[in-house]
Amino acid sequence: MPTPPKLPELLNRKVYKTGQTRGADDDVIFQNRVLRNSTVLIPYGCWKLCQKPPEGEAKYENGFIVLLPPAEYFAMKGPAKELAAQGLKLGENTLVFYETREQWTTNSPQKQKWTVATSRQNPLGGQYVARVAGITAENGEKINEGFTTTANKGAGIRVYEYASSETIKKVSQQLEALFWLCSDSAEVIEKFGMAAKDTALRKEGILKIAEEKGLLDFKKLIAARIVDKEHVTICPLCLMRLSAKGFLTRMEQAQGRAVHDITVTEINLFHINELRVGSFGHVPYNLGWGHHHCNVVVKDSGIQKTLEWMQSVLERNRKAGYPI
Ligand SMILES: [Zn+2]
Repeated sequence: MPTPPKLPELLNRKVYKTGQTRGADDDVIFQNRVLRNSTVLIPYGCWKLCQKPPEGEAKYENGFIVLLPPAEYFAMKGPAKELAAQGLKLGENTLVFYETREQWTTNSPQKQKWTVATSRQNPLGGQYVARVAGITAENGEKINEGFTTTANKGAGIRVYEYASSETIKKVSQQLEALFWLCSDSAEVIEKFGMAAKDTALRKEGILKIAEEKGLLDFKKLIAARIVDKEHVTICPLCLMRLSAKGFLTRMEQAQGRAVHDITVTEINLFHINELRVGSFGHVPYNLGWGHHHCNVVVKDSGIQKTLEWMQSVLERNRKAGYPI
């Protein structure tokens, strides 16, 4: 098959950056914007729940690290044995994770003659990692040890953000297909400089791939509020059809042009089921496109809970006699 024509770069980035995790602050244990198949960090308390990679997959592609609170480690009578019984070994797939000054002073890694971890892969090159926030009082400097250099920042990603490279690819293909299912996609993208011939080729190509990979099951897409009954892409919360222009408003600004149509609402990635530990949210049929504004309203509560909340807001207003 010949190479399909390229999407305008900024649209390409919007679709394909969905394979990355979200941003992380400087002083946290997580990596900042990396591919979702990076090493997974599993809190010890969630090990039972999270030890299994997504269904049908043999392992986490780049391994995992269990983060063990010092209090739990030092309360174990025979730590090596207790950990081994759960398939864990300090320094290989498990690290003691210091998060408070008290943990650090009570059971310092120096006392144990531990070294700090240096690798995300087994063996981890050490037994501990630390992220203790600074305080203004005396001896209150922050303690950041392990995975702090520019080249090696953050020990891994949040477990619920994980997706295998194959899943990352499928999700972005489905998301690109959904862009093309906006009723004005071809017309809008041609305005952004893509030739009509290329537009048709790219659209047909990606819809065919999506179809072949089982990513265009319209029953499922409709049930998930991702497209409407006419197979046109909609916002999962307000159910309005999306204009392809909403994908490109940022592009207009980025290219230094004025946004002429102020009714265009910016479009964001939208999770259908909310993110939570113990499930993997970055999978086909759980992601659509929606208004930035609607996405902010749904935030982490999920669509169903948001609708119930909206209903209660309206009812209260009605009962109180305010006009709606
Ligand atoms: Zn909306």
